[in-house]
Amino acid sequence: MNDKIIISIDGYSSSGKSSLAKEISKKLKYKYIDTGAMYRGVTLLAIRKGIFNSDLWNVQNFIPFLKNINFKFICNNKIDQTDIFLNGENIQSEIRSLDVTKKVSFISQIPEIREKLTLIQKNFGEKKGIVMDGRDIGSSVFPKSELKIFMKGSIEVRSYRRYRDLQKIGEQISYEEVRTNIIHRDIMDTSRTISPLKKHIDYIEIDNTFLSMEKQLNLIFQLINKIKKNKHSIV
Ligand code: C5P
Repeated sequence: MNDKIIISIDGYSSSGKSSLAKEISKKLKYKYIDTGAMYRGVTLLAIRKGIFNSDLWNVQNFIPFLKNINFKFICNNKIDQTDIFLNGENIQSEIRSLDVTKKVSFISQIPEIREKLTLIQKNFGEKKGIVMDGRDIGSSVFPKSELKIFMKGSIEVRSYRRYRDLQKIGEQISYEEVRTNIIHRDIMDTSRTISPLKKHIDYIEIDNTFLSMEKQLNLIFQLINKIKKNKHSIV
C-alpha cells in the first residue's frame, strides 16, 4: 500500500512556507516543490524575451514560449538546497532578484500561464510523497491533498525576513521598499480573479509571527501521524 501523502502549504509572501516545506520534506524524505519559484522562472523568461520592454504588453507573443517549457527540481545535498532548473539551466539565484520579484505578480495573473504551471505541478504529484508550497496548491492544484496548511505572519516579521534574505544576496534595498513590495503582492495575490490566495475551511492555519520552527514541526507531525493512522484504520 502506498503510504505516501500530498502536503499542500499555501500562504502569504515570506510567511515561511518554503522553510517549513523543506524541513517537512527532509524528515519524510519527500520531494519538495516550490511553485513560487516556477512563477518566478516564467517571469525571468518573460523578462529575457523582452515582454516588459514595450508599452504594448503583448502576452500572446509570449505564450508560444511556454509550449515546451521544462522544470526540474534537483536537491543539492552538499549545500542542503533544492535548485530549480528551467529548460536545463539552473536559475535558483537569478529568480530571487528584485526585478523578478517586482514583476512576478503580474505574470502569475495570466490564465494561460497558471493553466500551464498547474498542469506541470499536478504531474509532479502523480506518485504522491510530495510537499508543495504556493498560493493555490490546496485549492486548485491538489484539492484532495491529505494535509493543507495555510501560513500567515505579521507584515513586519515577513518584511524583515525578506529584507534579510535580499541583503544576503547583495540586493541594495531598504526595509521600507521590501515592506511595500510585500503589501503590494499580498493585494495582487488575494484579489486576482483566477486562483486567488484564500484560506478555505479545510486548511490548518499557522500564524508563525511568534512560533519557532520546532513548534511548527511538532504541530505538523502530530497532524501527519493522525492522518496516517486514519489511513491505516480505513484499510
Ligand atoms: O512564493 P514566492 O514569493 O516565491 O512567489 C512569487 C509569486 O508567485 C507570488 O507573489 C505569486 O504571485 C506567485 N505564485 C502564485 N501561485 C503559486 C505560487 C506563487 O501565483 N502557487
